[in-house]
Amino acid sequence: VYILGIESSCDDTSAAVLCNGKVLSNVVANQEIHAAYGGVVPELASRAHQQNIIPVVQQAIQRANIDKKQLNAIAFTRGPGLMGSLLVGTSFAKSFAQGLNIPLIGVNHMQGHILAHFIDDENQQKPTFPFLCLTISGGHTQIVKVNDYFDMEILGETLDDAVGEAFDKSGKILGLPYPAGPYIDKYAKQGNPKAFTFTKPKVGKLEFSFSGLKTGILRFIQKNTKGNPNFIEENLNDICASIQYTIVQILLEKLKNAVKLTGIKQIAIAGGVSANSEIRKMIKDGEQKYGWTTYIPKFEYTTDNAAMIGVSGYLSYQQGTYSKIDVKATARLKVTE
Ligand code: ATP
Ligand code: FE
Repeated sequence: VYILGIESSCDDTSAAVLCNGKVLSNVVANQEIHAAYGGVVPELASRAHQQNIIPVVQQAIQRANIDKKQLNAIAFTRGPGLMGSLLVGTSFAKSFAQGLNIPLIGVNHMQGHILAHFIDDENQQKPTFPFLCLTISGGHTQIVKVNDYFDMEILGETLDDAVGEAFDKSGKILGLPYPAGPYIDKYAKQGNPKAFTFTKPKVGKLEFSFSGLKTGILRFIQKNTKGNPNFIEENLNDICASIQYTIVQILLEKLKNAVKLTGIKQIAIAGGVSANSEIRKMIKDGEQKYGWTTYIPKFEYTTDNAAMIGVSGYLSYQQGTYSKIDVKATARLKVTE
């Protein structure tokens, strides 16, 4: 079964071809244009998707070495995301599916991040149900109990900013380019994680909050640069390591609470922030420390990609669940919907 996956929820245009859940191609066109603005500009994102979508899909089909007539279904991201961005992928998927006269499958982007674990890959172990998934991305921070492919429950989530925003906004304060997550990860490798301490939020056992941390970092930087204008430059590695350490500790504490409350020790991570090297290490260490069985996605399936949409479509296809041609792009969509 050949599935074409299309992802266009935010600022990356991506297309992938999968054969029985195995990735044959996964093309991602990053939109460089947003870096200059320090964040994603929705209107520019939508326009860039319009320019990218046809060449990206063509490349995905070409690299998979198949003919488009061999495709069995088209899966696309129906939400959540930026409306203008979602509409490009949705309209394209609809017309292409109609043109080829094959089923159309609308995929929930957040389920897609989680279902990336079911990509058929010899280097990737598939989780068994039920498992807990720490979903950490640019717009979400959740602990999800995954009962089945399309049966998920949110046990706890952020009350304000997502963890990806915590990385990106902290990075902005430090003058790092957008998105800052990968830069903080990189500089943190050379720094001392205990050089500076930041206050952790006081919220419920399974809830997260990151807006206070961002304010704390801003105050800390303002205070220290007053006495020394070169403070950031001189301490960048230590600052990054300390911020990252604080975030990792917050995530670990909540995950431990969730394991305690549910008794589930099958732990997965998903979403763009799960690319973070310290977070991956923290999860992996849980095997030794807490007896967890852990599932860490391949690096290329953490940030937005169409392979995760393709595999979600494949799982849906196997169940015979398709979307109607009038399926609508939905900017706000819970992982449970
Ligand atoms: P959502 O999936 O919630 O709709 P999104 O699709 O915009 O949001 P993703 O692409 O899943 O988000 O993730 C992007 C986020 O991942 C950005 O905030 C980015 O900084 C962060 N990120 C990527 N790599 C790393 C890393 N190595 N360390 C920390 N954060 C990272
Ligand atoms: Fe995402």
